[in-house]
Amino acid sequence: MLNDDFEPEEGYIKIDRYNKKLIQSISDNYSAILKDMGEEASREGLAKTPVRAAKAMQFLTQGYDLNPSEILKSAMFKEDYSQMVIVKDIEVYSLCEHHLLPFFGKAHIAYIPNGHIVGLSKIPRIVDAFARRLQVQERLTNEIRDCIQNTLNPAGVAVVMECSHLCMQMRGVQKQNSVTTTSAFTGEFLKDTTRKEFISLIGASLH
Ligand SMILES: [Zn+2]
Repeated sequence: MLNDDFEPEEGYIKIDRYNKKLIQSISDNYSAILKDMGEEASREGLAKTPVRAAKAMQFLTQGYDLNPSEILKSAMFKEDYSQMVIVKDIEVYSLCEHHLLPFFGKAHIAYIPNGHIVGLSKIPRIVDAFARRLQVQERLTNEIRDCIQNTLNPAGVAVVMECSHLCMQMRGVQKQNSVTTTSAFTGEFLKDTTRKEFISLIGASLH
């Protein structure tokens, strides 16, 4: 098992600072929204809310500045191993592009190496890089699959994602406990036997 947590970060930029001009602009817009909602934007509790919300929004969409393929390339190694590699229960936090409300849950990802393996911590990182954008769960699932397939060129990739959507839970139909499951496969995982093995190993209820 690879552990690349202590390697220097290469190949991509870690965004941990804010774009001041953008923060100001988003913040001004949030002030206007608060006023439109009938709030007194100047009251103590809300005084710094527009700036905080702007920073939060910039953090939650920082994936646009990341290159997931470069993240994978920064820790690819030649290796003969050709059995299924599974990373399960990866936490996912994203924003639904239709309502700007969070959806969150777990991703289970597998690939079958074809000459190269990748540092295991890079898999959750590319999940974050795609999740920290305005998304729909279906596209997020496919983007992760395609990135691993196109970068690592494995014999197959499997991505299963199980998420709860606040836009469903807090409004509209209010199905409090519903979980949306999406999946995407390539190569070997298009075969029934391989896919079923993966599904049983992650313990998801897929058909
Ligand atoms: Zn939504």
